[in-house]
Amino acid sequence: MSGATLVPEYRFIDIAVNLTDPIFRGEYRGKQKHEDDFDAMLDRSRAAGLKSMIVTGGSLEESKQALDVANKYDLYATVGCHPTRSAEFDSYEGGPEAYLQGLDKLLEENVRPNGRAVALGECGLDYDRLHFSPIEMQKKYFRSQLALAKKYHLPMFLHSRSCHADFVQILREEGFGEEGGKAVGGAGGVVHSFTGTPDEAAELMEMGFYLGINGCSMKTEENLKTARSIRLDRLMLETDAPWCSMTSTHASKKHLDTLPTSLRALYFPPATQPDKFVRGKAVKGRNEPCATGGVAWVMHKLYDLSLEEVAEQVFKNTVDVFGLEGLS
Ligand SMILES: [Zn+2]
Repeated sequence: MSGATLVPEYRFIDIAVNLTDPIFRGEYRGKQKHEDDFDAMLDRSRAAGLKSMIVTGGSLEESKQALDVANKYDLYATVGCHPTRSAEFDSYEGGPEAYLQGLDKLLEENVRPNGRAVALGECGLDYDRLHFSPIEMQKKYFRSQLALAKKYHLPMFLHSRSCHADFVQILREEGFGEEGGKAVGGAGGVVHSFTGTPDEAAELMEMGFYLGINGCSMKTEENLKTARSIRLDRLMLETDAPWCSMTSTHASKKHLDTLPTSLRALYFPPATQPDKFVRGKAVKGRNEPCATGGVAWVMHKLYDLSLEEVAEQVFKNTVDVFGLEGLS
């Protein structure tokens, strides 16, 4: 008899992972602290049931890099400009039109079925970080990117922080108020890393959008109440790695405490500090896509449904919205 224990397998797609971040190559704020462990990170994610991931593109240049990663590792990517980087439109050589044309061209060359661009984004509004780009500038370039979602019938990967009223107003004015903008050529999308109220979640679901939950969406009891209010058929799961790790001070902790050892080993593998890096171990403080299952675990506790039911419905939601049929 072998001593091997059978660990149940659940499958996931991490819809928000910042794999262009040099931290996955061992580089922290410009300093090489340990060897490049990108492949080991991918191995850990596969062991944890990740069937694919969507690499976030946060600017024109980063979207190119995200597509390079997606092409190299058989993943998917988003193409767009994050609200806090809206100033790039104005500072770009050739001006805002040329920047938008750059995104347009990248989509034209990389949308499915021939390429790996599956969403327009990351785009939206962020009123918590106005020192990077003021409100009016964010609004202007959010609107101009929405035109690309219509042109390519692409789902959107949306970012919304402390801006709900303006965010939904722009979406409504641009034709995305119902069925995710079907009437204007849109294909809905997901508001990722959601930290709003249950009412805000309800309004977005009513408009036809999905909501992405990660560690940052489960920090407080209020967060958990909102997460619980999301309909399972409108839920997506993510890590936003290397950010948004779940920590012992978060409200999610009491639910994570019930995670069986066998799954904990997969979703939260042993980690060491970056300067004490050991080959084959994860790195403390650096979130990884393998933690997607941990987010699913908390959601299944909140819903009081089986982990399998939550994982399978979310998998289906993600495949349907982003057109990842090959994975199902
Ligand atoms: Zn975001």
